[in-house]
Amino acid sequence: MSDKKVRVRFAPSPTGGLHLGGVRTVLYNYLFAKKHGGDFILRIEDTDQTRFVPGAEAYIFDCLKWAGLEPDESVQHGGDVGPYRQSERKELYRNYADQLVAEGHAYYAFDTPEELEQMRQQFKTPENPTPQYDHTIRMKMRNSLTLDGDTVHELMHSDTPYVIRIKMPENETISFNDMIRGEVSVNTSLIDDKVLLKADGMPTYHLAVVVDDHLMQISHAFRGEEWLPSAPVHVLLWKYLFGLDRMPEWAHFPLILGPNGKLSKRDGAQYGFPVFAMNWTDPKTGDLVEGFKEKGFLPEAFINVLAVLGWNDGTEQEIFSLEEMVEKFSIDRVHSAGAKFDYEKARWFNHEWIKRSSAERLLPLVRAVLTQHNVEVNDEEALKKVIDLVKDRCTLLTDFYEQANYFFQMPGLVDLAPVQPKWNEAKAVFFQEVIRNYQLASVWNSDELERNFKEMAAANQLKPGEVMLPLRIMLVGGKFGPGVFEIAEIIGREETVKRIEQTLKMLQS
Ligand code: GLU
Repeated sequence: MSDKKVRVRFAPSPTGGLHLGGVRTVLYNYLFAKKHGGDFILRIEDTDQTRFVPGAEAYIFDCLKWAGLEPDESVQHGGDVGPYRQSERKELYRNYADQLVAEGHAYYAFDTPEELEQMRQQFKTPENPTPQYDHTIRMKMRNSLTLDGDTVHELMHSDTPYVIRIKMPENETISFNDMIRGEVSVNTSLIDDKVLLKADGMPTYHLAVVVDDHLMQISHAFRGEEWLPSAPVHVLLWKYLFGLDRMPEWAHFPLILGPNGKLSKRDGAQYGFPVFAMNWTDPKTGDLVEGFKEKGFLPEAFINVLAVLGWNDGTEQEIFSLEEMVEKFSIDRVHSAGAKFDYEKARWFNHEWIKRSSAERLLPLVRAVLTQHNVEVNDEEALKKVIDLVKDRCTLLTDFYEQANYFFQMPGLVDLAPVQPKWNEAKAVFFQEVIRNYQLASVWNSDELERNFKEMAAANQLKPGEVMLPLRIMLVGGKFGPGVFEIAEIIGREETVKRIEQTLKMLQS
């Protein structure tokens, strides 16, 4: 690695929900920055005003906050090389575009949308069904290469809209090193004359990304593989504008694959798993797409899943905390092949993380789940005990409702089916005795309650197995949950007795 300070960036266009591939790009950038004592910058790439979506920028920040991947510099965090929103940097790009024109690397183009469409029709062939504005065509269009100087001057000083296009050299090879893929070479004849500055004066992504990576002193530009085809254009712009001086090192992360190729929002809907970090509501349609957060994922698990989707540390280890990832991460170990997202595996990670998390850590999250179901818990200590007791049974945070609600309220539904067929008078008598015994018990703890219960069962010639299940149904409402006497200890004497009495009545009627 070179000696320049590590500065990386995540540069989203705020156009909708934040896909898990986007969060993985954030994560790898973040890990690399932290590992090398560098800065992680978040730049909002909002130069395409037709794609502006209200709320999308704030949503991105919320997702990063939830994931624990806070930038060092951004619109919200400030920094020395702002503004960090490209729409606020509009004035800055024009000079660079003009410089490119002056040096013969770009030109003004006046073609109307109709003329462009006509060009596509005219030059369409079976081998080339979608002709591009490139070196084979540019001299047949209306631009500053084909028009005389006076006409160009006149057009530029009239209301005629125009764009600035890069003049792609013919038949040159552009090579650059990708930290994951090695040397990448592309022939320039294959690339069209991309628009750099649009008619509204805004730069396109290609110009803005290069100018900003330069001005923001970005040392490494890491992004998704979908940007690999744009990289040669960026390298060329770096060469023309800055003589390649301090060009960032590049790395393009592999695609995240779903069940059928590239993972898409539709896969999520079809297979019932989230693809966005957090719930996203499309402001136009009102459609809500569920996020990992709301589905019940811990952020620790979510980023762990993303970390190992395309990277490993060279051992069999799968569970990593953020600190460990920072320590062990390296771009060399990011794979170049697409990584398949496996939702069942993601659930496994979440289960592991719930098991490993302290009751203290889980407390506010579990409380929020219960509150959503109108179960308010005031006794924090009791809730912590419950969390420790049931967390092994929860794959998603949302499972805590089913696993914990009955500690704080009567079971909503008591399923008598497992006990009814074998219910008899002897058992009814036995449970009356349990009620009397428990009402008088001097010590209320699970060991004591279990001992008393078993003694009484023996005295009544009942096997513990015959009466334990009814007790569980009485206290929990179904055949699930942790140790039944531990449940009794936590819900307390009054509630235990009340639940036994209530179920007895139901069984007698
Ligand atoms: N604005 C691009 C995006 O939305 C950024 C690509 C890059 O990082 O260069 O993904």
